[in-house]
Amino acid sequence: MDFTFGPDDTAFRAEARAWLREHLVGPYAQAAGTGGPGSEHESVAVRRAWERELGRGGWIGLGWQSPGGGEGGGDGGGHRDGQRGGQRGHGDGGGYGNRRATLTQQIVWAEEYARAAAPARVGHIGENLLAPTLIAHGTPEQRRRFLPPVARGEELWCQGYSEPGAGSDLAGVRTSAVPDTSRGGHRVTGQKIWTSLAREADWCFVLARTEPGSRRHHGLSFLLVPMDQPGRIEVRPIRQMSGTSEFNEVFFDGAHAEECVGGEGNGWAVAMGLLALERGVSTLVQQIGFAAELDRVVRDAVTTSAVTDPVLRERLVRQWAELKVMRWNALCTLGAVGDRGAPSVAKLLWGGWHQRLGELAVRIRGASGAVGPHDWTSSAPYELDEAQRLFLFTRSDTIYGGSDEIQRNIIAERVLGLPRETG
Ligand SMILES: Cc1cc2nc3c(=O)[nH]c(=O)nc-3n(C[C@H](O)[C@H](O)[C@H](O)COP(=O)(O)OP(=O)(O)OC[C@H]3O[C@@H](n4cnc5c(N)ncnc54)[C@H](O)[C@@H]3O)c2cc1C
Repeated sequence: MDFTFGPDDTAFRAEARAWLREHLVGPYAQAAGTGGPGSEHESVAVRRAWERELGRGGWIGLGWQSPGGGEGGGDGGGHRDGQRGGQRGHGDGGGYGNRRATLTQQIVWAEEYARAAAPARVGHIGENLLAPTLIAHGTPEQRRRFLPPVARGEELWCQGYSEPGAGSDLAGVRTSAVPDTSRGGHRVTGQKIWTSLAREADWCFVLARTEPGSRRHHGLSFLLVPMDQPGRIEVRPIRQMSGTSEFNEVFFDGAHAEECVGGEGNGWAVAMGLLALERGVSTLVQQIGFAAELDRVVRDAVTTSAVTDPVLRERLVRQWAELKVMRWNALCTLGAVGDRGAPSVAKLLWGGWHQRLGELAVRIRGASGAVGPHDWTSSAPYELDEAQRLFLFTRSDTIYGGSDEIQRNIIAERVLGLPRETG
């Protein structure tokens, strides 16, 4: 695959850099570097406003395609010919105020975003999970209704898949939904868990059982549920070991679901469709953030002189080398549409890598890494510093988005052709 930056990409980079310089000011500049894994509680109001600023600039949905996979918002397959950076999209996927950006330009944007240390996105679930799903499986009306507010940074989404008893084994979903005869749509009853950003979100996409008595992946539907339903939806934060509460329990008690995506009973195919859409660009974008984190850990090692310890130095070099390997792996598998093993290999690589980075970040601090600065006259728990948050949050990297064990099962079955699990 040709993966060099051409003149269009250079022009796109200049445009992105200039826009960020002009717009990342005032409260947005003060919120620079806030948010993200382990710190989602930071500067939420400012980051919501920043989403709308990004939307006005047309920077949300750069990778959205049109339903046929064509000219909507970058084709995700690396074809740059004929697509000028900075143009507004006009396909069904990319015609909602967002720009058209090729794969390389999406990477350029991520690089510039990381370079500017812009606040972590709070709208990524709508942009990266809901929107591609609607583009692939939604009706034109659903796309017209739901994509523009995501592209404008106005409506935030959360993902209602996991339940107590249905995590890795998602086909065990028990949340149910029945047709709402008075208003249309469905009425949803049940419980979701580990729902990230549920308190901030305006909408939730919910996997629910719409066929009574159905089992496993049959009889499920992919429903769009507005979150502002007092008395019908209750969100209870779950306190994590980092002290913050990024994810939540969500209880639905006859909550109204406005839309069903992909047809009733077809929820499993829609829910799983995201895996097939995965082509590696998100992994490359993620690695830009990883590189910035590794830089900070290396700087810390130099400042504290931990870098003189040969064991720690070797581990830092190993992290650096493994990041390069992950990059080459992602580049090799870009565009491998339908290869369900590639995302699993990528997830296995980055989950462990990020976790080891968190361990290293704390170890470099020596004994002080375990406690952190604290006013010992105060009875309040001490604030975690950046390294400690990274360490604690990255414990979850080998769980969410499919645990390591599940990724190994997928690779065993779909790549190595080993017999399926029984039971
Ligand atoms: C930070 C974070 C954010 C999250 N955000 C969301 C969200 O926004 N929306 C949402 O719906 N969910 C979310 N989740 C939930 C996440 O998807 C689940 O935690 C994950 O799918 C694992 O499910 P579980 O926690 O029920 O663990 P279980 O499925 O109970 O697994 C427990 C252990 O058993 C292992 N195991 C299970 N089955 C097998 C098997 N067949 N073979 C071998 N080992 C197995 C697992 O690998 C794991 O180690 C989030 C989780 C985290 C940590």
